[in-house]
Amino acid sequence: MSLQILSLGVAGLMAVGLVIGIGLLSLTSGGLHFLFARPGLEILKSKHGANGFAFAFRFNSSREPAKFDVVRLRLFNPFGSPEQVDLTRSFQGIDHTFAQDFDMGIKLDELINAKGFDDAMVEVEVNASKDGVSQYFRMKGKDLKKQIDGATQTADQYNEENSPSYKKPVFHQTQRSFIADPLPASANALKIASNPEFAGEFAAGASDAPKEENFALSKVWIEDGCIVCDACETISPDVFEVKDGGCIVRPGAPLENGLNIQEAAEACPVEIIKFTKAN
Ligand code: SF4
Repeated sequence: MSLQILSLGVAGLMAVGLVIGIGLLSLTSGGLHFLFARPGLEILKSKHGANGFAFAFRFNSSREPAKFDVVRLRLFNPFGSPEQVDLTRSFQGIDHTFAQDFDMGIKLDELINAKGFDDAMVEVEVNASKDGVSQYFRMKGKDLKKQIDGATQTADQYNEENSPSYKKPVFHQTQRSFIADPLPASANALKIASNPEFAGEFAAGASDAPKEENFALSKVWIEDGCIVCDACETISPDVFEVKDGGCIVRPGAPLENGLNIQEAAEACPVEIIKFTKAN
């Protein structure tokens, strides 16, 4: 009996120990990951074809608070040709795990197809230029080629799954038409010459507006402040004469055409032409 109780006690202790052990292991691995997990690089499938380079950069933003904004791809190929290729692309700083996809241009094709590429060294640098932080990932050319060929996930897909603030871009296609829609029917039609509805009214001599009756003036004079713009003389050359220092009313100027002189007075930008009507 006492042997049975003893066995049960040992089994119980072992079960409790196992549970505590698993808990401690889990806590330790989480802590180790937080403290020592290195940032990681993953090569992705680019949508830019042979000139495209897509990658994901994973890092612990609480341990390494930095905004990464540059990627640099370098080929060190001392026994091949070309011996070096250096490609850099900048982007808006990102402070959490992210993926990017760049068109690196024709030089990427030159890098991948370099003579001796398989044994050359390729370095991918992800840099936070404003924080002075860089992460370097080095691999042999053949390994990079293998990763590029084997990549299936795109940067958009990676960001959707991993980036906390990623929002898939939405593009709207604007509907364009070069033919204006007809104006909505309205009682307030514009009375302008180009409106066919009023074409007749704008035709030469078609105006029904009552003509203002002309009048004679008894006196015309010009006050100080002439800016010598010539407007008055252009409208009424018999009455006004513009000289270098200002404008004068010609001596003995005819004052019968009051409408013409009134027009000149209204055209004067500084409003200094004055007149009185004859009784
Ligand atoms: S229009 Fe007026 S400002 Fe111009 S020249 Fe005649 S008086 Fe002078």
